[in-house]
Amino acid sequence: MKLNDENLKIAIQRQGRLAEPSRQILKSIGLDFEYHQGRLFSPCQNFPLDILFLRDDDIPEYVQDGVTDLGIVGLNIVQEKAAEVVRLDCLGFGSCTLSIAVPQKSSFRTVYDLEGRRIATSHPRVLQRFLEEKKVSARVIEISGSVEITPSLDISDAICDLVSTGSTLRINDLEPIEVVLKSEALLIANPRSLKDSRRRQLMERLRVRFQGNIRARRTKYVMMNAPREALEEIKEILPGMKSPTVVPLAEEGMVAIHSAVPEEVFWDVIERLTKTGASDILVVPIEKMVM
Ligand code: AMP
Repeated sequence: MKLNDENLKIAIQRQGRLAEPSRQILKSIGLDFEYHQGRLFSPCQNFPLDILFLRDDDIPEYVQDGVTDLGIVGLNIVQEKAAEVVRLDCLGFGSCTLSIAVPQKSSFRTVYDLEGRRIATSHPRVLQRFLEEKKVSARVIEISGSVEITPSLDISDAICDLVSTGSTLRINDLEPIEVVLKSEALLIANPRSLKDSRRRQLMERLRVRFQGNIRARRTKYVMMNAPREALEEIKEILPGMKSPTVVPLAEEGMVAIHSAVPEEVFWDVIERLTKTGASDILVVPIEKMVM
């Protein structure tokens, strides 16, 4: 099988934490492609797109150099590689922080306590920049994996590593003291591809789909019954798309109200709705949302 030069190309992680959710998001925006372990690329059956499965460390450079037009990769890697790429969208998965952590038994409480100390990390560039901003002079030791073990081997006094739940840190008797960077998976693009009108059009079509997927995941569809006289108050509470759908019910003076509610204000909205007399509140996930 050969790559088709006319096709758009997107790089995603082959193996690791972002691999499965990256394939998943491409499937959920309607792209039909096959994936087998060991496969390095896959053409899409229903879109002029080839998907390349790569090491995530390499993705920013591949996108920067135009080997692929698009890529899905963590912000942490984009920052670390300092690649010249355009950051298009946050994709809402792969959330983690790059944090400085110290042995639980140590007396270090802030980054300033690490003056003159050794910090092991697989993100030396991001850490160095952070230390410079904080005006802390510490020795950055570059390690490519298992950074958590370095304090117990006396290779370092602290580490700077990716954390999501913090359980790996706890297992290694470490505790986070400082967030260096908040990261999640991003859709990135090659700047020259964005200037090519044909490629740009294809990328825009994909982006509409990505954004529809992201928006849908961040929004819930809420249906409820309410007395008609509470309608104005309910409309004020609902931060919906435009105006809610209102349907009269068989019961005199009652209406059904449907609206989309963003995840981040969801519980606040529901609590306020129940106080207006709204009842039988049903909440369903939204699969796609194209505005
Ligand atoms: P990996 O599978 O370890 O190569 O990680 C791939 C990417 O997943 C990282 O570069 C981060 O962007 C993201 N990620 C999210 N949570 C974590 C975590 N707890 N540890 C490592 N990477 C994480």
